[in-house]
Amino acid sequence: MNDGKGAAPLEALSIKCEACDYAISPKDQLIWGTGFELHHLMPWAEMQEGVERELIADDFAVLCATCHRAIHRSDHVSDVRRFVHEFWRNVVFE
Ligand SMILES: [Zn+2]
Repeated sequence: MNDGKGAAPLEALSIKCEACDYAISPKDQLIWGTGFELHHLMPWAEMQEGVERELIADDFAVLCATCHRAIHRSDHVSDVRRFVHEFWRNVVFE
């Protein structure tokens, strides 16, 4: 629990996929938490070799494993909002 004196410990936070909104509560992290991954919005392959750059939180998105694999197969690897608009909002489950 966050007492307002600092950041809450990771195990006290809910986790939510920024693409599909799949989420788990803190009590489910032990079992389901491994289904979430940090997605690099700037692919490592596009970073210039030998150039150092401090990574910040805005360089990453939290995605579930399914969305993470899907965004890498899309043309919107650096733009989660466009990925969601083009793929998730148009998904038809039959
Ligand atoms: Zn997802």
